[in-house]
Amino acid sequence: MIDTHAHLDFDQFDPDRDAVIQIALNEGVEIIINIGTDFSSSQKSIELAEKYPQVFAAVGIHPHDANTWNSRTDPARLEKLATHPRVVAIGEIGLDFYRNYSPHEDQRRAFADQIAVARNLHLPLVVHNREAFNDTFDTLLDCHAHEVGGVMHCFAGIPEQGWQTVDYGFLLSVGGRLTYTNSGDPAVAEAVPLDKILLETDCPFLTPMPFRGKRNHPALIKHVRAKLAEIKRVTEAEVDRVTTAAARKVFRLDEKTTDR
Ligand SMILES: [Zn+2]
Ligand SMILES: [Zn+2]
Repeated sequence: MIDTHAHLDFDQFDPDRDAVIQIALNEGVEIIINIGTDFSSSQKSIELAEKYPQVFAAVGIHPHDANTWNSRTDPARLEKLATHPRVVAIGEIGLDFYRNYSPHEDQRRAFADQIAVARNLHLPLVVHNREAFNDTFDTLLDCHAHEVGGVMHCFAGIPEQGWQTVDYGFLLSVGGRLTYTNSGDPAVAEAVPLDKILLETDCPFLTPMPFRGKRNHPALIKHVRAKLAEIKRVTEAEVDRVTTAAARKVFRLDEKTTDR
């Protein structure tokens, strides 16, 4: 299993970060991609990836922090971080019109600028979208994001939007919400092919059942795998094989591991 979206740099893991990673490795998580949300967390993601051969980093500025993005100086600053050999993607970037912590115009500008950085460096994208699917998709189209591809993380939408994403060459990733009753995620996961789906935790958030309400961590990804196996009517081993291969391919993890 590969946890394609974790925030192990967050404070919630300060007391026991090393133990949490060790438990995940013991439970069969082979790789964790730690995702940056601002410059500081992107730097911390790289430090985790330097420390653990099983951790890789994504670097980027989350739409919540888009109001801090400086279009003149920050693209070069991000590009410098992203050339680190342990960085496998630009993210998480995108649009969040639910929380609206940053004005929409700032969000669009930061998103577009960061897609340009990804295209310069030929790195895939980790895209965050909440209540902004059409605007997110328009930005991807306008910025020719298909050249680098990537994943729409924690995909929330309807099956048609799932198909639209897949047709554009992007993958979907699913997490703990897949296990919640009254979530629309199972319908999307059922609709799109298994080889277009990745697994993620988005820990410390979105803890899968039966641990909802507690802190999420990468070892709990097995509950997402189990639910996806049930939805797809395949074995958990098959979900593991197909989603791991898709994650290795989109983030080019095999190249990165032989680099070392
Ligand atoms: Zn996100
Ligand atoms: Zn996230």
